[in-house]
Amino acid sequence: MSDPAAAPTLGFAVLDEAGAGVMASVYLDRVERLGRASSVEPGWLTGLVAAHELGHLLLGTAGHGDHGVMQAGWSVRDLQRGPTTAWRFSPDEGARLRIAARARQ
Ligand SMILES: [Zn+2]
Repeated sequence: MSDPAAAPTLGFAVLDEAGAGVMASVYLDRVERLGRASSVEPGWLTGLVAAHELGHLLLGTAGHGDHGVMQAGWSVRDLQRGPTTAWRFSPDEGARLRIAARARQ
């Protein structure tokens, strides 16, 4: 049974057995619905979800952070803060993303 208060799944990322990112997708209909419910600009929210899923691919983990772009489940209340600096990767996530990006060059 699903929890009606739970945040909807807005996208997903697939990693292979070695933890390498394979693909990611964003559920635009859910993003638009949550954007309307939160009164946030849908383009911003789509970008936020895409950044989150790309984070999974580059970080090589399905895990989530406690806050910021990699936190699991975004509530209407969270999103109503809008595009603030709170929606960043953590310093540790940022460092790991830079290493992963360099490794792919
Ligand atoms: Zn996630």
